[in-house]
Amino acid sequence: MSRFLVEKYQGMESYTPGEQPKPGEFLKLNTNESPFPPPSQTGEAVAKAASQLHIYNDTQCKALTNAFCKVYGVQPEQVIFGNGSDEILAFCFQAFCDKSVAYPNISYGFYPVFAELYGLEAEEIPLREDFSIAPVDYFGKQKTIVIANPNAPTSMALSAREICSILDQNPDQIVVVDEAYVDFGGESMVPYVNQYENLVVSGTFSKCRSMAGARLGYAIANPALIADLNKIKYSYNPYNVNTMTQVAGTISLEQDEYYRDCVAQVVLAREYFVEELNRLGFETLPAKANFVFTRHPKLTGDQLYGGLREKKILVRHFTRPEICEFVRISIGTKEQMTQVVTALSQLLEVAYA
Ligand SMILES: *Cc1c(COP(=O)(O)O)cnc(C)c1O
Repeated sequence: MSRFLVEKYQGMESYTPGEQPKPGEFLKLNTNESPFPPPSQTGEAVAKAASQLHIYNDTQCKALTNAFCKVYGVQPEQVIFGNGSDEILAFCFQAFCDKSVAYPNISYGFYPVFAELYGLEAEEIPLREDFSIAPVDYFGKQKTIVIANPNAPTSMALSAREICSILDQNPDQIVVVDEAYVDFGGESMVPYVNQYENLVVSGTFSKCRSMAGARLGYAIANPALIADLNKIKYSYNPYNVNTMTQVAGTISLEQDEYYRDCVAQVVLAREYFVEELNRLGFETLPAKANFVFTRHPKLTGDQLYGGLREKKILVRHFTRPEICEFVRISIGTKEQMTQVVTALSQLLEVAYA
């Protein structure tokens, strides 16, 4: 740190992304990426777009927006795109959180970082004993609420009805529902954006649409809220989604069947994996995302993480005491999950020996 950094940022703890090792070094199941590449048409289309990089990109993302509205059944005034949904969430914190914000104490690691960045007082609402979010804990808050649904790293989901109860009980507060993982088994709130004046749904192409490296996220809400988010965007970086990403996103939406097939394969691999984990004596939280959160009575979270790492499988381990016994394992292909099952069986053989 230099002596020039503004004082209020000197103690700030920034976000720690999951490790990105050299390609091929590990079976990489630590950042919830898709095991499948983007649709085959993407390469050529992106290359063509690259030849136009001397021209500024479209700030309104018109082609992308058209394709998006067809698939998601919304109007162009109801959507905004961002450089990943991290940027969208940053816009939401900036636009809608005045002094304070509330979110679950165990959730996406970026929420506390944004709270600190924007100088907000954060209320971290504890999960229940079973690691679930209890809607009633969010009733009558005098502040903006942010909820990941399904939640990370638990992979557990609330029903749309439960989210509606939170919206109903906070009519004068914005509720941001982060649907980064909704396609893998959650219930989306997008059908409710016309009904609720206070609902913002954020989503991403990173996980289910195989585009983590392209950085494309979105928010869907009523036109007034989207106008507010655009006010932030156009005061910060109007060119936030680059030309090649806009093209890749459009292709993804045009090839919607490919994406649905990828999601279906991940869900099948998850179901297979959870069954195998049960057989091996793991306790796995009810998984609705493209990862599982699991623990074993015979091995600590540290031992699971380290043991798998030695076998060249990278998963995520969190050190905070409430969840340090767990590891979060992203779901890859069925073949990859078979490899993880084999590795875990071997670790357990040693543990029981
Ligand atoms: C991955 C993730 C995001 C953001 O992903 P982007 O790549 O920035 O779109 C947002 N919320 C949650 C809960 C996530 O896990």
